[in-house]
Amino acid sequence: MTTVTQLSHKLWHISLPFQGEHGVLGCYVFAGSDQLVLIDPGPQTTAAALIEGLEELGFQAKDVTHILATHIHLDHAGGAGTLLQQMPHATVLTHSKGAPHLVDPAKLLTSATRIYGDRMNELWGTVEPVPEDQVQAIDHGDVLTLADRRLEVHYAPGHASHHVIFFDVHSGEMFTGDAAGVRLPGINYNRPPTPPPDLDLEIWTHTITMMKQLHPDVLYLAHFGPSKEPVAHLDQLRERLYSWGELVLQAMREGKDEAQITEYLIASTQPELERLTDDPTMVRRYDLAINYPMTVQGYMRYWRKQGKAS
Ligand SMILES: [Zn+2]
Repeated sequence: MTTVTQLSHKLWHISLPFQGEHGVLGCYVFAGSDQLVLIDPGPQTTAAALIEGLEELGFQAKDVTHILATHIHLDHAGGAGTLLQQMPHATVLTHSKGAPHLVDPAKLLTSATRIYGDRMNELWGTVEPVPEDQVQAIDHGDVLTLADRRLEVHYAPGHASHHVIFFDVHSGEMFTGDAAGVRLPGINYNRPPTPPPDLDLEIWTHTITMMKQLHPDVLYLAHFGPSKEPVAHLDQLRERLYSWGELVLQAMREGKDEAQITEYLIASTQPELERLTDDPTMVRRYDLAINYPMTVQGYMRYWRKQGKAS
């Protein structure tokens, strides 16, 4: 089962059932002028559900002309290679630093295996390479005219060094991938997604400021859906990005190891999340979007790189 929602004129959101849960991971779809565009198509494990969602909207997989990836992490674009087998006319567009890793995912897989270990297949399935002639590298300042929309490409590092956001100046709609954090529907709680190896607090702060200065009306998050108060949303992200970072740094200085720091972070922060919701699936769904061990690994690597850990 998929859940398809119309967001605005010829723009839809398809919830992808990730590990059996909806409201964790989604793909945006827009259409116009014989073009059909996907933003963040998701992993291989939800590829069939995505195609079902397109069919619910009256489209076929082969109608897809463009796949935009905010970044190439497996939950956002790991399924691109598999999807292309049914989308022969589609081109995948992503930042120039990410594009080579779609064509040759070996390094990406090594780095993901370090995080997910033996859960790789269960979570992400098979990561098929994207044929080189179906990849187009994009960069900051590019303007994409697709399906009657004009999308500005803005470089948005901090979560990943190859992250971009797509901004529709006319409608004020901003597709933020993970750059605006993780906030699931029905709760005002923005969890910072801070995986290794690229996490950078200072750089991410610049990205947050950049997003605010564009004055978006709505943020479309990968995890999950629209956020209609962009300034408050982004302020909360910056605040929690640093407060969690401080918790990890302090624990590192006390000599705690990774497992102890993870426990400490959960104990320090999860009660707040539990207080804000009556939904028993909320904690699990946040963990599916960005889990605590990965969060801690990202911060620890960052603080070590900064030379602040001891
Ligand atoms: Zn993500």
